Amino acid sequence: MIAFRLSIVTTRATDTALTWYLRSYQDEDTHRAAALAADGTVRAMCGLTFQPVVHPLDGVPACLSSPPDALQMCPACQLGDAR
Ligand SMILES: [Zn+2]
Repeated sequence: MIAFRLSIVTTRATDTALTWYLRSYQDEDTHRAAALAADGTVRAMCGLTFQPVVHPLDGVPACLSSPPDALQMCPACQLGDAR
């Protein structure tokens, strides 16, 4: 039972983790943001608020723990990541 509770705490620690969201498929247009707002938009670290690109297969906003291509990352959000 104690181990079970510890695993819940560990999972919750990821709640504050920031995620990369695709604003478009253009270069430098994947931004780092916290969780989706109720209206389906995200607020990126660089100050942009946008509706993320939706994954074509499951209809869920496309988000990544890290972008596959550094060219896709917003430079401002990338700097924030280094902090
Ligand atoms: Zn950005």
